[in-house]
Amino acid sequence: MIITIDGPAGSGKSTVARLLAERLGVRFLDTGAMYRTIALAVLQAKISECDPAAVAAVAADAKLELRDGVMHLDGLNVAAKIRSPEVTAISSIVAANPAVRERLVELQREVGTMGSLVTEGRDQGTVVFPAAKFKFFVTATVDARARRRHRELVAKGSTLTLDTVKTQLRQRDERDENREHAPMKPADDATIVDTSAMSIAQVVEALVATVTHEAN
Ligand code: C5P
Repeated sequence: MIITIDGPAGSGKSTVARLLAERLGVRFLDTGAMYRTIALAVLQAKISECDPAAVAAVAADAKLELRDGVMHLDGLNVAAKIRSPEVTAISSIVAANPAVRERLVELQREVGTMGSLVTEGRDQGTVVFPAAKFKFFVTATVDARARRRHRELVAKGSTLTLDTVKTQLRQRDERDENREHAPMKPADDATIVDTSAMSIAQVVEALVATVTHEAN
């Protein structure tokens, strides 16, 4: 059984997807981490994220591995590095590159052949797993998302203002929604979940209820 959870940054989808996978006892796939890993490889190669041919070459050569659900680049665990502001800033530019998407979609589908999975991203229900049994599009107002993301960053010691975080979220949404290949959008058969006024626990309960009710 494949369950897809797509949606914009700060919607709570990553936490919800992880908890849902735990509750159902199935694997969890964070596809944003894969795009972030290519973005990190681009930074390390010191090429421009705006040079499509160079980015495609880096994506083709990058030694990517998913070990116990954690992304590794050239054999190294990059879980912390891919959360840096530098990686975040270029991830949506790198993700618009069709060669990058092609390589990562193949990897994602490979994971999908290994058994039941909760997978989260922007295109999981529309492009990667169009036949998934359950599809959710988890979203929230830009204000609610910016507040959540700002709180997380401050807790990690960031000094970015709420306004800056909101502007960056908007820019990323804009790129993700308007790109030519696999733009972020709900699948026609996705259930839309607006989390603006919900706690993570409430969202998880709602999703567990849908899945267990319909699966039985
Ligand atoms: O979800 P996260 O913020 O980690 O994703 C980082 C970036 O990766 C997104 O802004 C988006 O551009 C890209 N992405 C994507 N398709 C996915 C997952 C992430 O294009 N399935």
